[in-house]
Amino acid sequence: MNNNIDKNKQLRDLYKEVMLPNYAPADFIPEKASGSSVWDKNNKKFIDFGGGIAVNSLGHSHPQLVSALSKQSQKLWHLSNYISNEPAIHLAKQLTDLTFADKVYFSNSGSEANEAAIKIARRYHHEKGNNRNEIIAFNNSFHGRSLLNISLGASHNHRKGFGPLPGGILHADYNSLSSVEELISDKTAAVIIELVQGEAGVVAAKQEFLLGVRDLCTQNGVLLIMDEVQSGVGRMGHLYGYMAFGIEPDILTSAKGLGGGIPIGATLIKNDIASSMDVGSHGSTFGGNPMACAVANKVIEIVSNPTFLQEVKKKEAFLVNKLEGVSKKYQAFREIRSSGLWIGCELNNNGEVNDLLDKCYKSGLIAVSAGTSTLRFAPALNISEDEILEGIKKLEKALST
Ligand SMILES: *Cc1c(COP(=O)(O)O)cnc(C)c1O
Repeated sequence: MNNNIDKNKQLRDLYKEVMLPNYAPADFIPEKASGSSVWDKNNKKFIDFGGGIAVNSLGHSHPQLVSALSKQSQKLWHLSNYISNEPAIHLAKQLTDLTFADKVYFSNSGSEANEAAIKIARRYHHEKGNNRNEIIAFNNSFHGRSLLNISLGASHNHRKGFGPLPGGILHADYNSLSSVEELISDKTAAVIIELVQGEAGVVAAKQEFLLGVRDLCTQNGVLLIMDEVQSGVGRMGHLYGYMAFGIEPDILTSAKGLGGGIPIGATLIKNDIASSMDVGSHGSTFGGNPMACAVANKVIEIVSNPTFLQEVKKKEAFLVNKLEGVSKKYQAFREIRSSGLWIGCELNNNGEVNDLLDKCYKSGLIAVSAGTSTLRFAPALNISEDEILEGIKKLEKALST
């Protein structure tokens, strides 16, 4: 530590004084970051395997993102949705060219992207004269923290004390087609699903289950919403995860990695559904603002390159191989699940992941958790092999203490 003064501590103490106690942050305060390296106030270096929970898709301070942001910041920041802007229009053009979608609605977060998706799905049926407003979501899912999104998620902890919650939401079991069959009816407006349940521990949907849900929705006139807030923008080695399965959603939500660290959300929609929305039916003050869209344009340009996406798959194999080695040496993990550069390591013996996280921080590795016993990695998609090896060394150190 520099000069024996812990520069992190002063700020940590102030944090406790002035911040709502809804988080339990690590006991260091970062000062700067570059690529997949982060330095705290005491100049201690960390390797970032957390990627800001799948947000820093191109690492920290990526030169092309810095340039996109600074250029835009000198031209135009905000005008509201009374007036459109070029970065937003270009971003919508990129997203519709590269995906199933015809139309895009911009917001600022995953929660807002989902909120719009559900509103659009209900509105679509309303405009068609269908008496359908029920939404089928899944147990152990995560869709955000707004009242609607905690209703979609079934977590008791996330809901406790916040009722009454929006109604019309039913919960099926993930990877159980029969449980969806049981709930689907002529009242169902949409099914909302994650391709991989990230918060539940990086648990992937089975191919036949997803295809079954797609079929069931099509046969019953039900819209399929894919929540790709965490799985999208290259995380699974595809621009969007659905591209790995040979099926398409009717509505898709994107956020997290889309802005590479700048807040942005997007709801992607097919034409016939989008046309149920008219002027004034939904909106957002900041959604589609030029600063966020300028950065997201650059992120999509870089990540949609097929060579870049192949590299993500190679890095997944490289990192998982190293993790398996470490796990064997320290009897650390019961299971390692990966879907691209998105990895859940389930601890042996129901180990407490928060204890391990603290040890990781001490040894200079940033990771995140999922559930109570899964260590989750969602590093920058462009993390180098050297940075992976450095992070693995720090993980070994954490596991051996
Ligand atoms: C993070 C997440 C959300 C919520 O996004 P916010 O930006 O925190 O509102 C929604 N769905 C999934 C799958 C997520 O991982």
